[in-house]
Amino acid sequence: MSPRPDLGPKPHLGYTASRIERAAERRADAAALTALENDARSRAYVVGGEMVVLKMAADVHDPLFTLAQARELGRTAEVVFLGLIESTARFAVALDPAAIEALKTRDEFVVTDLRSIAVRGLVEADHLPPLAEGKALLHWHLRHRFCSNCGAATNVVEAGWRRDCPSCRAQHFPRTDPVVIMLPVAGESCVLGRSHRFQAGMWSCLAGFVEPGEAIEDAVRRETREEVGIVCGQVSYFASQPWPFPTSLMIGCHAQARSREIVIDRAELDDARWFDREEVAAMLLRRHPDGLTTPPTVAIAYHIIRAWVEEEIELLR
Ligand SMILES: [Zn+2]
Repeated sequence: MSPRPDLGPKPHLGYTASRIERAAERRADAAALTALENDARSRAYVVGGEMVVLKMAADVHDPLFTLAQARELGRTAEVVFLGLIESTARFAVALDPAAIEALKTRDEFVVTDLRSIAVRGLVEADHLPPLAEGKALLHWHLRHRFCSNCGAATNVVEAGWRRDCPSCRAQHFPRTDPVVIMLPVAGESCVLGRSHRFQAGMWSCLAGFVEPGEAIEDAVRRETREEVGIVCGQVSYFASQPWPFPTSLMIGCHAQARSREIVIDRAELDDARWFDREEVAAMLLRRHPDGLTTPPTVAIAYHIIRAWVEEEIELLR
């Protein structure tokens, strides 16, 4: 066995370790919410679909607006209460697409997607979890304006955390879609795949949605078998990550591969193959001779792969 490679200090996993206290008890308290909305210390993130509006600054940009500033930017589609940070409120405001387009032309703002903000470090890392919370919640509102039971238009209640149907009385709650993301491993090797939409040279974990009535472990085994034809045994949970593109929760796992032959599902993957630990370490370090890489450190895939390279997972003990 080769010596354990030194991959340097562990980077932070993006969108996790939120400092927001969600303060769910305030959501139904109209007086408390009005007080927070009128509090001069309250701040809001401004989102429009995939885009986030930032105030341009020399170093990292500033994603926080007062509620009055946010409302002046254009027609507000929705305002949701994210929670409290050190007793001050954080909201997320959704702007109309037309308003977002207009802001792109203004020099004092940077209007870009959350993926770019995270990967390029355009804001302080502390802002990523509430931005993920706000973007995912506002996306849910955008797609759930009508009751899925009777078709009537629904009303926003609980500061954005529920929609009620005035016609059939159904209550609708924001959804999170679980996705398993896994690294099949066997001894000194692991399987990585390439999706058709990946940039050239990037390889990553396999992933897929958990289906209704399915356990996480079963979803890992099914997706691995479907995508690369590998049969897996033991599955071990590693970590999770909110992934607001649009509303997923990535559930990171390692899986013990029980077969070697790879049969690629070409509809899902461009390529997949076995890699040994040394090659993967070079990819993590961005020192692979052919320029192959793993995903950026903001993504859980990087951390799943790195934990295996550093032999930190239960499965191998
Ligand atoms: Zn209804």
